[in-house]
Order: sequence, then structure tokens, then C-alpha cells
Amino acid sequence: MTSGKLRIMAIGAHPDDCDVKVGGTAILYARAGHQVKFVSATNGDTGHHQMGGGVLARRRFAEAQEAAETAGIEYEVLDIHNGQLLPTLENRWQIVRIIREFAPDIVITHRPNDYHPDHRYTSQIVQDSAYTITIPNVAALTPALEQNCVFAYMSDDFTKPCAFQADVTVVIDDVLDDKMRMLACHESQFFEWLPFNRSQGQVPDGHAERLSWLTERQAPRFASVAEKHRESIASFYGPERAAGARHAEAFEICEYGRRPCRGELYRLFPFFDGP
Ligand SMILES: [Zn+2]
Repeated sequence: MTSGKLRIMAIGAHPDDCDVKVGGTAILYARAGHQVKFVSATNGDTGHHQMGGGVLARRRFAEAQEAAETAGIEYEVLDIHNGQLLPTLENRWQIVRIIREFAPDIVITHRPNDYHPDHRYTSQIVQDSAYTITIPNVAALTPALEQNCVFAYMSDDFTKPCAFQADVTVVIDDVLDDKMRMLACHESQFFEWLPFNRSQGQVPDGHAERLSWLTERQAPRFASVAEKHRESIASFYGPERAAGARHAEAFEICEYGRRPCRGELYRLFPFFDGP
């Protein structure tokens, strides 16, 4: 970190995972002048019912860039087929290089137990990189980081073998509309594939109508995070703010990488005004 500014990296499996789980927090960081980079480990080239392959990969890439511009962040998409990501050495080295080049303070990824193999393997690759980024002789042409990063997990509702634990919860009410605009950039996902795949009914045509249609379906997910982790919100923002918090994103600190003390969490997540 230089000049008090943080560098935040989120690594998801698909070109919308980081947006859904970290989008609001990313917007808050970006607005405060911190540097945020999202990485999608796959190019999203199979998640659609009417198109696929290179055409879909290029569309997903363009949508990710639009989302990044909306949020004021960077977005890198790796050219690995959707559904075919494996925790190989080559993929580990690629992630090691990407983390080293950005030199983040925090790296956020999926938890290792998840329904989607791409989510699981992204997590595996990032966890395997968590120690490796400090070893100079691995991927030796990209200088190793002198100090390890803090690694954290995005929230989820899986319970086996263990439920997500909210070590930090960020209230995103102030940026919920911006987060929804960011998600709406992923048109092929939120207005085409997911409505088809999840039988969400007819998607409206107009831009404003689509945005409110999407908000109706997505905002309850972030409301449920706030509801579930209200105690964690109270511990950072104080009970009064916690009682009024409606939407949130939560993170669990990974046991690998650098382990931050409570005081460092306040530095790494500079959004809290109490208690
Ligand atoms: Zn995904």
C-alpha cells in the first residue's frame, strides 16, 4: 500500500461472480480513491441457451468491461473455457503472476465448498497461490511479494462442511443502485441466461424497467446478507446503524495468507464509523 490507498482484488470464476458478491464494496472502495481489480477465471463462454463459444466469450468480456467502467474499477477475464477450469499448476502460476503484478492488500475469492466446479477450483487455485506468491523461485520472472496479502472469502449459504462466517460485513445501502447498474451491464447473464435457466418469467424491454425488474430479483439476496449478519454489522458500525442497515456484503478471512488483527480490518475496510 502507498499513500494510504488500498489495492483490492477479487477473483471469481465467471464474469459476474465478483460483481454479485463484492460489487457494492468495490464501488465504495473506488469512490474513496482505492484501486480495485476484478478477475474472472473463465471467459463465460457456455452460460447461455442461445449462443456460445467465442461469440459469447467476447460478449461477456465486453459486458465485464462495461460493468468495470460503471464501478470505476478494472476487470480482467482469463481466456479459459467456462466449466473447464481445473486447479492445474499452469493455472496456479497464472494466478500467482496476476496477484503479484497487482500487489493487492486483499484478495477475495469463493469459498472452497460450492455447487459449481468453477467456483470450487477458482477457490482452490487462489488458496494454493496464497503461500506461493511470496516464494521467489516460483514463477521467478514475476517478482515475489515481500509481504503476503490478506485473503478473504465471498459470502454464500452453503453449510457443509461448515457455514460461512462473517468476519467483516459492509453495508451497501448507499451504493445499491450503482451495484444494480453494474449488474445490469451483464445483459447476457441477468436478462437472458438466468431468466431462462431459473424460469424467472418475461424480462421487460426498457432500460429503466429492466433495472427495477433486476433490483426486485437481486436486492433480496443482499438484504438477506444484512439480515443474517446483523451482529457482525453492529460490531463494526454500532447497533444503531446496524438496525437500519438493509443491504450488505460479507467476507470471511481465509486462514491462509496474512491474518489481520481486528485493528487491521478497520484499515483494510475503511467504511466503519463506529462503535
Ligand atoms: Zn459463477
